[in-house]
Amino acid sequence: MDLKQYITIVPDFPKPGILFKDITTLMDNGSAYKYATDQIVQYAREKQIDIVVGPEARGFIIGCPVAYALGVGFAPVRKEGKLPREVIRVEYGLEYGTDVLTMHKDAIKPGQRVLITDDLLATGGTMRATIELVEQLGGVVAGLAFLIELTELGGRQKLEGYDILTLMQF
Ligand code: IMP
Repeated sequence: MDLKQYITIVPDFPKPGILFKDITTLMDNGSAYKYATDQIVQYAREKQIDIVVGPEARGFIIGCPVAYALGVGFAPVRKEGKLPREVIRVEYGLEYGTDVLTMHKDAIKPGQRVLITDDLLATGGTMRATIELVEQLGGVVAGLAFLIELTELGGRQKLEGYDILTLMQF
């Protein structure tokens, strides 16, 4: 299946000059969403993962159906102040300023093999921060899966040493 036909490119969102890749037109198509999910499930099986982790909010959309299909758990990565119990946090750089991501301290057991999912790999900053959280908790990052890779932004280089699956490249 050619998944690219289900991605809508929205010019000037959220800022002038940006060509936003809108995945909602893939998600609202049952067969396209299932096809994309199945590709990631197959990858996760090969990597023998124990748990799926994804950053809010689109990492959930990709990761949760994969966890369900495999019968493994899902642990959310969230912005500061959203998780109710004790967290670990990591600060990471954005284009302007910094942001913070958090995970519950007991979300991953040491040695668990983790698949991290997100909708899109751009500069790799979000994924790097998520990897840091998982590794701080003793998780083994067995693979990274994205629907989309923006190849010119160098995310793959920033994630060197990790195994990466991307279903579409722009
Ligand atoms: P990075 O941290 O620079 O790799 O940016 C990736 C994050 O930004 C992901 O969590 C995406 O959800 C979001 N993002 C960046 N550009 C787009 C886009 O064109 N469409 C959808 N999400 C995007």
